[in-house]
Amino acid sequence: MNESKPQSMSSFWMPFTNNRDFKAHPRLLVSAEGMYYKDVDGNAILDGTAGLWCVPCGHAQPKIVAAVSEMVGQLDFAPTFQMGHPAAFDLAEQLMEYTDHKFGHVFYTNSGSEAVDTALKIALAYHKARGEGGRTRLIGRERGYHGVGFGGLSVGGIGPNRKNFGPLLPGVDHLPHTHNLLKNAFSRGEPDFGVELADELERIVALHDPSTIAAVIIEPVSGSTGVLVPPKGYLKRLREITSKHGILLIFDEVITGFGRLTTPFAADYFDVEPDMITTAKGITNGTVPMGAVFSKQFIHDAFMDAPPGIELAHGYTYSGHPLACAAGLATLEVFKEQGVLENAKAIQPYWEDAVHSLRGLPHVIDIRTIGLVAGIELEPIAGKPGARAFAAFKKAFADGILIRVTGDIIALSPPLVLEKKHIDELFGKLADVLRNLD
Ligand code: PLP
Repeated sequence: MNESKPQSMSSFWMPFTNNRDFKAHPRLLVSAEGMYYKDVDGNAILDGTAGLWCVPCGHAQPKIVAAVSEMVGQLDFAPTFQMGHPAAFDLAEQLMEYTDHKFGHVFYTNSGSEAVDTALKIALAYHKARGEGGRTRLIGRERGYHGVGFGGLSVGGIGPNRKNFGPLLPGVDHLPHTHNLLKNAFSRGEPDFGVELADELERIVALHDPSTIAAVIIEPVSGSTGVLVPPKGYLKRLREITSKHGILLIFDEVITGFGRLTTPFAADYFDVEPDMITTAKGITNGTVPMGAVFSKQFIHDAFMDAPPGIELAHGYTYSGHPLACAAGLATLEVFKEQGVLENAKAIQPYWEDAVHSLRGLPHVIDIRTIGLVAGIELEPIAGKPGARAFAAFKKAFADGILIRVTGDIIALSPPLVLEKKHIDELFGKLADVLRNLD
């Protein structure tokens, strides 16, 4: 294992990174186990973000490591175009069971971005297959994050991510976001105000006519944009309106899937059934890249009614890669054997109290929690948006905790296997960071 510093850091163009700042002050991780990373200087770093929201079972789970190691020696690669391998089918069955058979089929991708673009394409092709090819309009939401493909960017609602990339997809509308600091600050779970914002969908539908609208895509809880929790009743109302108009509802559960809210998916938590779910990250415990689209039986049926031939002209070389499938199967076993969801549920109240104990510390203007997620919003430094939270991130890393920041919001999403002692360590150190921040 190479635990030494790289000879040069100049060639790697790092994603979503301030490259110049990073290369002047690097943070290098060399190993991980359980709740901790180790950095190149040998320091333990408590993982408050499950990597990038993607390690629900904790790092280096022996079962997952063994399954991937075994598979790489047995079947390093196999195409899934016009052929297959058993693990891809086994995982699909297990995933459908994990959804309690609310979904009938799974389409594999390699990332959340690909899952989103796949779901949008399935939505368009589904309507076309049923003779409603006029339904081409897609609706996302302000402050939504759906990855970085052109489809996901188009329905996404984060200005800085979109602004340099041309006109994006035509025929896309956005619902308003639901963030309301004046009315909903310091809420636990779903905030009280804002259900009426779902009615904006009726306005968009009336403007364009339902016969032009294919799908609405939404993160049940927005993560990357700073943990925005839906107001009480909001998602149910969106479901009612989409069903009324024959519009598909897609939940982007790339971060909320696999137990983040203490239930298998956010759809279970909110008791709303979307027509498709996009997911990734936790599906393999982050070990091997994989994304997926879960679709309801009726969507798949529409394609199978077509004349014989390839039903959906779409897929990736690595759709259902053997290593990802091995990791996925082992991850689901760990969920069952180690009671990962049960642990998340049991520890959630302790987590929530610990997060809200930061109220009153310098610069903290909001705290919001749901499941094992927390958003801690800081007052921005005048004229320097994002600078205060970024300083917190760097200081936290130096003090041995990994947090994530977006704008001036700290987003926390630990592995679901954490214990009370980890919560105490995380918030003890984070409180110190906040107390000593400019
Ligand atoms: N959708 C959501 C809701 C996400 O949070 C993310 C990533 O964080 C994506 C899509 C994109 O996933 P990926 O980075 O795997 O492409």
